[in-house]
Amino acid sequence: MNPLSLPVLRLMTDGCFHSGEAIARALGVSRGTVWNALRDMGALGIQVHRVPGRGYQLAEPIQWLDAARIERLLAEAHVPLTLEVLDCVASTNTELLARVAQGAPHGLTLAAEVQTAGRGRAGRPWYAVLGGSLAFSLLWRFEHGVGALRGLSPAVGLAIARALEAQGARGIQLKWPNDLVYRGRKLAGILIEVQGDALGPTAAVIGIGLNVRVPADLAVRAGQPVASLTSLPGFKPDRSRLLADLLIALYRTLERFAVEGFAPLRREWEARHAYHRLRVRVTMPDGRTEEGVVWGVGEGGELLLDTGRGRRRLAAGEVSLRPAVDGEADA
Ligand code: ATP
Repeated sequence: MNPLSLPVLRLMTDGCFHSGEAIARALGVSRGTVWNALRDMGALGIQVHRVPGRGYQLAEPIQWLDAARIERLLAEAHVPLTLEVLDCVASTNTELLARVAQGAPHGLTLAAEVQTAGRGRAGRPWYAVLGGSLAFSLLWRFEHGVGALRGLSPAVGLAIARALEAQGARGIQLKWPNDLVYRGRKLAGILIEVQGDALGPTAAVIGIGLNVRVPADLAVRAGQPVASLTSLPGFKPDRSRLLADLLIALYRTLERFAVEGFAPLRREWEARHAYHRLRVRVTMPDGRTEEGVVWGVGEGGELLLDTGRGRRRLAAGEVSLRPAVDGEADA
């Protein structure tokens, strides 16, 4: 990303027209440099009007993250997380993992206005747009080994769903193991990367990407239907408030998870599962598929599947779940 793009956009936040000359003067650069900085805004999901004689104007205002306000909201809720808001980063998970190697403290959270190479599971891409997504990662250090983290991913999904519901969102569902969906469209993804060993301690980098207000063409890039919070009726999210509320909910859920694991969250999770008691097809890492009816999730967050030949427990791994397609069930 052009390093001047964000400083230029910040100058235009008031929504008025700004001449190239005035922007150039404010930043101590040439008009050509300003033009260059504004050229690739489409890639960030930002539309800029350019009117000869008047200058540049944002098509829509940008809701920037207000770090001081988020920190205040966390402090009021007695949530001792440390937040850093970065302008631009390849991936908040990658950056936080690098910090873990340098001894980053428990509770460090990195949020980014722009994420240029966001990642999902198995190296799949995660796309975010400036001002219209939330992309952040939280470091949680557990005393125990990797085995005690079973169910962490669904627990995080539940924490996010609860926080959104507390803000008035209705109809949000969970898709095993780690997605939030609205009307079958993907609203948020979770990527957890763990460092440590079997006996512990372990460091979990919990990355979350959430669509707040994303352009329609993002679904084309994502290659699957996509939902935004703004598509929920009557829901007008404020990104900073939302990030604070998500962090508060995550903190409270993780504190409990660290002691009790996923078991106490299981029923609440199932109640929100988009495929509870439905027929699904599960694709394993080696490409094999398994079909069956979902009858729940286990105490470790595993999927409980009734295959007709018996009940199976599937650990999350790189397993991917889709609704079973009628007529293909026995193909
Ligand atoms: P799947 O969504 O296919 O079941 P998954 O849960 O493993 O797989 P993730 O790794 O969580 O998927 O996310 C990566 C996938 O999400 C990408 O392959 C892409 O299809 C989709 N995607 C990328 N960006 C977005 C976005 N902003 N909103 C919704 N979906 C996205």
